[in-house]
Amino acid sequence: MIGNYATTQEQSDVSHTQGKVRFPTGEIFWVAYDSTNDALEPRLWGTADELAAHLRELTPPAAYTPCAHAKDDVEIAVKSEGGLQWSGTACRLCRLVEGPLDVWEIETVGGLPEWY
Ligand SMILES: [Zn+2]
Repeated sequence: MIGNYATTQEQSDVSHTQGKVRFPTGEIFWVAYDSTNDALEPRLWGTADELAAHLRELTPPAAYTPCAHAKDDVEIAVKSEGGLQWSGTACRLCRLVEGPLDVWEIETVGGLPEWY
């Protein structure tokens, strides 16, 4: 568990929280959630350590580039304000969440799912 963590000095205005994304196969990836801007970072990581190691090179939602691969319906959950959950789509091959990334634009459910 890495819990909440602040990013490096040059990004000290942004606080990232861990999240997880579950594919229909049951496979779970780690994801970073920008709790300052209420936005999900699109890149998926295999482990919490892998996510923590790449915090300085996170891809902001605005930098997401759509791909042509078939997308999977995924469940998204982040550890922010007691937990937030929503449904989205992601590309398993590119390891990218397609969306929704901007939590302001959608309805979310509170709490964390059983699989988290
Ligand atoms: Zn793709």
